[in-house]
Amino acid sequence: MPFVATNPATEAVLAEYPSLSNAELDAALQRSHEAYLAWRATPMSKREELLNRAAELLESEVPVVGELMTSEMGKTFAAAKGEAAKCAMTMRYYAEHAGRMLVEESVATSGSRSGLRYDPIGVIFAVMPWNFPLWQVVRMAVPTIMAGNVVAFKHAPNVPGSARYLEDLFLRAGFPAGVLASLFVEVDQVAGIIADDRVKGVSLTGSERAGRSIAAEAGKNLKKCVLELGGSDPFIIGASANLDHTVPLAVTARVQNNGQACIASKRYLVVRERADEFLERFVAEMAAVKVGDPMDPATGLGPLVSRAQRDLLAAQVSTSLAQGAIALTGGAPIEGTGFYYPATVLVDVPRDSRAGCEELFGPVAVVRVVDDLEAAIDEANNTPWGLGGSIWAEDQAEIDAAIKGLDVGMVFANAIVVSMPELPFGGTKNSGFGRELSTYGAREFTNAKSFFVA
Ligand code: NAP
Repeated sequence: MPFVATNPATEAVLAEYPSLSNAELDAALQRSHEAYLAWRATPMSKREELLNRAAELLESEVPVVGELMTSEMGKTFAAAKGEAAKCAMTMRYYAEHAGRMLVEESVATSGSRSGLRYDPIGVIFAVMPWNFPLWQVVRMAVPTIMAGNVVAFKHAPNVPGSARYLEDLFLRAGFPAGVLASLFVEVDQVAGIIADDRVKGVSLTGSERAGRSIAAEAGKNLKKCVLELGGSDPFIIGASANLDHTVPLAVTARVQNNGQACIASKRYLVVRERADEFLERFVAEMAAVKVGDPMDPATGLGPLVSRAQRDLLAAQVSTSLAQGAIALTGGAPIEGTGFYYPATVLVDVPRDSRAGCEELFGPVAVVRVVDDLEAAIDEANNTPWGLGGSIWAEDQAEIDAAIKGLDVGMVFANAIVVSMPELPFGGTKNSGFGRELSTYGAREFTNAKSFFVA
């Protein structure tokens, strides 16, 4: 089946790319394997030079690649340009810091010389989602490549232009062919790739369903696996929250990327004494979010990525409303061309309804009122996921209680949860395992090899 890019704002087909035959896939893996044999011996200074060159090219092309991403998956043009700039910034960060993160370490023992090295392991296969078409790949691939590995990635089939752009960017920057390779392959070719002897590790960013399947294949083949999966991040409004600061960011946290971010806030847990004030202001600001053409600078919320994704969200909400949930704003899809859904706030959501127990991958916020911060933390932890979470409070004791008490991979206070190259990114429970970014991400696909000289 070809990879087909469709503009979710206009429903027009943009381009089609043929998928790889098994013979073409075999040749691509061989190219990656041979690239690895040379790349692992390439000095860090050369890797840094090439990565800086890629960053420079990307910086000069931000509007072009921004428009490409907007047309393929509907994020606002402003968000797409921000994503491209963040990718370039992260490349520069790793060009500056990867050498330090991966340097050989001495450890004092009874020997004359001992320590550990972080050696690359080979071709790493990555399966990627469409929601941040450039960033997801860069976040996984840049640290992995700087460690001396090569990356072959299967992107989501609806963002083939973005996949091609990234592969081409690395080639134009001077990276040898096969260091970063896009594979247009089908899901039924994935198990064979993971089993291939030339592939030494696998990484997925995507749904829990895909995570279970990829982890099973990796397990069968005893290969290292990193999973960045879904979440239902809590946004906790504590008693001491400054609502002037909190409310606008509560809206952004839900509608960013048209509501389609793993780390978007999805459950708003507000302590009773601040509930009326928060709800009134939050609902008013959610209702004011302008929905429309993602290329228009005034737009706050573009379309969802596909008809299927919009219909899924609509069904999750409508069945929950039928079970007793109440929509204080939004609550039904917008008819007409494009896969639009308005910013929505739900209260009184039954726990056994779909909005009460499934991830909502669109601009729908569930608000629950809780007695106090302790109850908020208990409620926040009462899910199968543990990706990120945020606490909004002026009181340091409230902040510290949330940082300590939340069973998640990342806690932010008075700021929206974001990924940044300096800090590890990843989750607990069904949100996956392993880490990307920071020193941890740079070392995920390395052999931490001990040495001891008597
Ligand atoms: P998805 O359906 O899992 O797709 C992600 C990628 O996995 C696509 O390339 C997809 O290919 C592939 N895939 C799906 N099923 C597979 C299987 N059984 N075996 C191998 N590959 C498979 O996820 P999505 O709906 O596109 O993305 C949304 C989900 O990803 C949400 O749950 C979101 O929270 C999560 N996410 C997590 C992070 C994170 O960093 N933790 C970041 C972004 C998104 P096909 O499309 O060809 O099936």
